[in-house]
Amino acid sequence: MKIDNNLRSIIDNIPEQVTLVAVSKTKPMDLIRNAYDCGQRDFGENKVQELVNKFENLPKDIKWHMIGHLQRNKVKYIAPFVYLIHSVDSVRLLNEINKQGKKNNKTISVLLQIDISDDNTKFGFSFNEIDNLLNSDLMNELNNVKIEGLMGMASFTLNEETIKNQFTSLKNLYHNYKKNLNFKILSMGMSGDYKIAIECGSNLIRLGSSIFGNR
Ligand SMILES: *Cc1c(COP(=O)(O)O)cnc(C)c1O
Repeated sequence: MKIDNNLRSIIDNIPEQVTLVAVSKTKPMDLIRNAYDCGQRDFGENKVQELVNKFENLPKDIKWHMIGHLQRNKVKYIAPFVYLIHSVDSVRLLNEINKQGKKNNKTISVLLQIDISDDNTKFGFSFNEIDNLLNSDLMNELNNVKIEGLMGMASFTLNEETIKNQFTSLKNLYHNYKKNLNFKILSMGMSGDYKIAIECGSNLIRLGSSIFGNR
């Protein structure tokens, strides 16, 4: 399968300030190389084992994004090289990432995942939980974690109004804290809804099937 055209037409049609993460989960190395040769450098994976394997076998200037649910006991495998963890959904996970950052003598960049959908199947902090966390003393104690912003996934629905409302609620939350916490990244939008997400203020989209084809 040729992905060059998919990739180029997406890149040509998104605003300059929007970062494209190519979600390569389940896809073979040669397709990732193909995208790499087109200039793509940001790739996203949702399984630790697959992420580590691809990191080891692909060019070292790739920025690897962890976008899937992350178990605490697996943070240590990706801590040395991961570029951004999008899917921090608990305080315990945040503490573990901080611990692994310290062990690796680095600061690990993360996003806090917010549950903006009403699907009940998505991970993430509720709006209440996130306000509590961001106003807590813990924020001053995380010396080896940098919270770069927020991530969310809208409901699986064709109702654009619902999707728009969910993305807008995340955008508003992001802007409430942006200045004080120096947020930089609002990660929202997948293949089916990224145009709406960009309209709603996203500056990072995570696209899999629209680049690599269906999984
Ligand atoms: C799989 C996945 C994507 C990409 O989904 P597509 O619909 O293929 O674009 C984006 N974000 C997360 C968190 C994912 O798990």
